[in-house]
Amino acid sequence: MDSKAMYKLTYGLFVLTSAFDGTDSGCIINTAGQVTSDPNRISITVNNGNFTRELVQNSGKFNISVLSEQADFEIFRHFGFQSGRTTDKFAGYAACRRSENGLYYITAGTNGYLSASVEQSIDLGSHTMFLASVEDMEVLSDAASATYAYYQSSIKPKPAAPSGSGKTAWRCRICGYTYEGEELPADFICPLCKHPASDFEKVTI
Ligand code: FE
Repeated sequence: MDSKAMYKLTYGLFVLTSAFDGTDSGCIINTAGQVTSDPNRISITVNNGNFTRELVQNSGKFNISVLSEQADFEIFRHFGFQSGRTTDKFAGYAACRRSENGLYYITAGTNGYLSASVEQSIDLGSHTMFLASVEDMEVLSDAASATYAYYQSSIKPKPAAPSGSGKTAWRCRICGYTYEGEELPADFICPLCKHPASDFEKVTI
């Protein structure tokens, strides 16, 4: 079995937003897709550690803003690399508007948004899958949607050229953070994007 076959699957990238009890938040997900056309339903899957998942669970509604190839790394840093539990991600954030359902959607670096109401949720242990009906949607631009592969090749900052020191380091595949050292501790968590040691690759710097 070659587990690299999993890398052959393609993914889009989205800002998932929701609100409950007057608190708004959002996070980055790569797991949104249409599952039925009539009625029009989508599914999303969100890590159970994400604050936005709680807001979706409690309110039963969410927006998906589709990230385009014009999205910059700052959007990923803003919505993906910090927690809504400790940061109000919409305080002073200008590139957003409220849709009919009262939730924010993102207006820059996106090419459309969908508003959805949750029909079912399934707790998968590490994540929750939400099956939802699409209630409203708008196209925001003609820019191509950003795939996860596009993020890796063109949005994520390029690593610095090797210095020639020949030292071993570990680089986070998600955000590019580099940890210098021969061995990466098994319980290491990326200080920038919070992904685990399994998302690091060994490099020479
Ligand atoms: Fe990282």
